[in-house]
Amino acid sequence: FGELEQTDPEVADIVLGELERQRGGLQLIASENLTSPAVLATLGSTLSNKYAEGYPGHRYYGGCAEVDKAEELAIARAKALFGAEHVNVQPHSGASANFAVYAAFAQPGDPILAMSLPHGGHLTHGSRVSFSGKWFAPTPYHVNKRTETIDYDEVRDLALAHRPRIIVAGATAYPRLIDFAIFRKIADEVDAILWVDAAHFIGLVAGKAIPSPVPYADVVSATTHKVLRGPRGGMLMCRAEHAKAIDKAVFPFSQGGPLMHAVAAKAVAFKEASTPQFQAYASGVTANAAALSKSLESNGMRAVSGGTDTHLALLDIQALGVSGAEAEVRCDAGRITLNKNAIPYDPAPPRVASGIRVGSAALTTQGFDVSDMDRVGGLVVRAVKADPTSSAGRIELDA
Ligand code: PLP
Repeated sequence: FGELEQTDPEVADIVLGELERQRGGLQLIASENLTSPAVLATLGSTLSNKYAEGYPGHRYYGGCAEVDKAEELAIARAKALFGAEHVNVQPHSGASANFAVYAAFAQPGDPILAMSLPHGGHLTHGSRVSFSGKWFAPTPYHVNKRTETIDYDEVRDLALAHRPRIIVAGATAYPRLIDFAIFRKIADEVDAILWVDAAHFIGLVAGKAIPSPVPYADVVSATTHKVLRGPRGGMLMCRAEHAKAIDKAVFPFSQGGPLMHAVAAKAVAFKEASTPQFQAYASGVTANAAALSKSLESNGMRAVSGGTDTHLALLDIQALGVSGAEAEVRCDAGRITLNKNAIPYDPAPPRVASGIRVGSAALTTQGFDVSDMDRVGGLVVRAVKADPTSSAGRIELDA
């Protein structure tokens, strides 16, 4: 870091400022985490200098012996961790991994069935502002208005009516377990590819805190930086029969040279995720999310679907008379980082939103346990209710 301070004090200040921000407040963004020093060291290593287009043993550049070992390690560890037949660790991000899934299994114009964006789906699941909604023909499925959980009857009806090429299970803001067996049955009935986008919850699967989609899905896409606590990046797991299609869809179809420092850091993260300590962390994450959700409920918020089985909770905050957008700004002013979120059948437009999303991964990494969640919930509610022009909602470093 001394080198950076000498060479570029402006950027050094930014790095330090962000470190202080991460340490000095509560990090409740459900898709974020705090990586280990080992992962950070690998990300900041000389592996970043190496070009390695292709796959281990079949590169388009010389000098790949060391990076080949890193990618082989990452693949072997991920296969063992998730019981996957084939793994590709090269996607630069979750969205890049998802792009490759479309490239592997669909042609432009093909019908796709995926969760509605305002009900928790991701932009890459058919939103008009993403390639997925522009180049394919998405039909959204929804959550049931009463239970706020996936309406599997509707999924089946829509699948029979539209005969999608791909059915997507997985979401960005869905607090409950997904029934992969039902999705498999529906996909088989209409001869569709079942793709599970496990970006959010793959870390809970790695830590054996929730069931795995791997035995059910044709392909699973994931990010490595959320609950899994690795470097920013993506990955794909699939059945052996799809291995060639997936590998070609990543390189050369949609990416160039892989980020070998990130690939090696993924290997480190998979090793960390194979330990009993990681399993304890993963079960801590779900316990903390449930306790935080309960605490927020007891303070006047309403948990969408009645609670959570995962690392995140979605809270309807209409009863507090504050919009999701206002709550996000007020929490930010109070050093609590979270995001506004649409709730299912939200009466407010997406930029305003009637809800907030909270996640427990970063707090759990920092050592918070269930006994701390009442205090965290109380601080969030105090910030949400605070007059934004005063400092009443701001948490102090010793709070
Ligand atoms: N898929 C889902 C379900 C996500 O929640 C996200 C990101 O939050 C992504 C894909 C995209 O991941 P990335 O931001 O790494 O592109």
